[in-house]
Amino acid sequence: RVLVGTKVDETHANWVTAYNMLTGIRVSVSRTNAKLDRPLTDADFEAKQKSTFDIAGNELVPSAKYDFKFKDYAPWVFRHLRALFRLDPADYLMSLTGKYILSELGSPGKSGSFFYFSRDYKYIIKTIHHAEHKFLRKVLKDYYQHVTDNPNTLLSQFYGLHRVKMPYGKKIHFVVMNNLFPPHRDIHQTFDLKGSTVGREYKGDDMEKNPRVTLKDLNWLRRQQNLELGIQKKQLFLEQLSKDVRLLQKLKIMDYSLLVGIHDMDRGNEENLRDKTLRVFNPGGDVPDEFDPHSVLMRTPSKLETQRKARELRQMIKSERPVPMGETSNRMPDELREGQNRPGFVFNQDDGGFRATHEDNTPGDEIYYLGVIDCLTHYGIIKKLEHFWKGFSSDRRQISALPPQEYGERFLNFINGITMSQEEAIRVKQERDAA
Ligand code: ATP
Ligand code: CA
Ligand code: CA
Repeated sequence: RVLVGTKVDETHANWVTAYNMLTGIRVSVSRTNAKLDRPLTDADFEAKQKSTFDIAGNELVPSAKYDFKFKDYAPWVFRHLRALFRLDPADYLMSLTGKYILSELGSPGKSGSFFYFSRDYKYIIKTIHHAEHKFLRKVLKDYYQHVTDNPNTLLSQFYGLHRVKMPYGKKIHFVVMNNLFPPHRDIHQTFDLKGSTVGREYKGDDMEKNPRVTLKDLNWLRRQQNLELGIQKKQLFLEQLSKDVRLLQKLKIMDYSLLVGIHDMDRGNEENLRDKTLRVFNPGGDVPDEFDPHSVLMRTPSKLETQRKARELRQMIKSERPVPMGETSNRMPDELREGQNRPGFVFNQDDGGFRATHEDNTPGDEIYYLGVIDCLTHYGIIKKLEHFWKGFSSDRRQISALPPQEYGERFLNFINGITMSQEEAIRVKQERDAA
């Protein structure tokens, strides 16, 4: 499937929803962050806070453009999670502010979820099903504990769980999480790997030309591709991955994948300004004719401006004043051009990603951006049914809906099997040819 996105502005069908999502996040996050930090209690994991936004506003909730209700789940837990993932609170709010707020990635999955990128491309908002929402709340404590024990976890980083409801509209649950891919580097190939082969193939005829399609397990195998990591990095990666998978197995989660974005350093950032800008506002999409990237780039604020804005936001947070809407509108923050590093995190150590290495640990020519995504599917009754039906027609071990224990084993085995340096791959091939 091709990832096509569109800029969300006033003319977009989901503008009001997206706008309200951001307003709700901003107000609730600054409200929680304004308070003095304190240790978490058991009650924090169950907590939820409801706000009613209306055009008039009141002493607790500032006036908003539209009428809607907003629910913030476990605000203190997510505040602590954001701190564990080392997000700067003011930065987080800044990314989720502005006029060209988001770009929408229709519904790339079968699940019907919608994806929105923050305008600086750092964060993803994903709408989730009620069952996924309930499930995340249920396992939040385990997740929190895991992140505390595993600062380098490869699992999706959840920064917030919220619900928005418009008058007469239905309740929309959503999470805010990390975008695995960097704003400043072209991703030349993307793979979504589950360790299953049945149906795991992208078949579009634009496969070779379009770097923005998400390829799957079979495409990976056919290309005889490897995650080229030498001994040290391979060990770091596989150890963390198996710890993460153990948690998913314990929580009876399945259907997750390893998302791999590959930046080829020989090709570098070869795309021109127009394409580059587009990737930010319209990831994977075609350039609408009327869209002039220069007009967007021109609005990039200076470093000083960005710092001033950050100071103001910090001030507002401190003084418990809600952050106004649309203040930093039209601007792309500096981080976009400077690159986004997450210093201190093992799998983001090389320009925000994890660079390939040779067997002797010398650097290779690819940078991997990777993580485990879509990890809120509980092995419930629906999956059991799917398992039952698919079990008739296909090899039972190959279909994707296996029970969580087997799913995890197959997943780890697959990733294990494709993680090797070029040198190791050559040896393996020679051995295979000899046999
Ligand atoms: P389905 O259940 O049908 O697999 P879904 O709606 O649950 O779909 P995901 O599997 O979470 O969707 O994601 C779909 C695609 O969106 C991924 O293959 C990937 O290309 C992109 N994507 C998802 N999460 C991220 C992320 N954190 N960073 C970058 N890209 C992502
Ligand atoms: Ca998925
Ligand atoms: Ca899913």
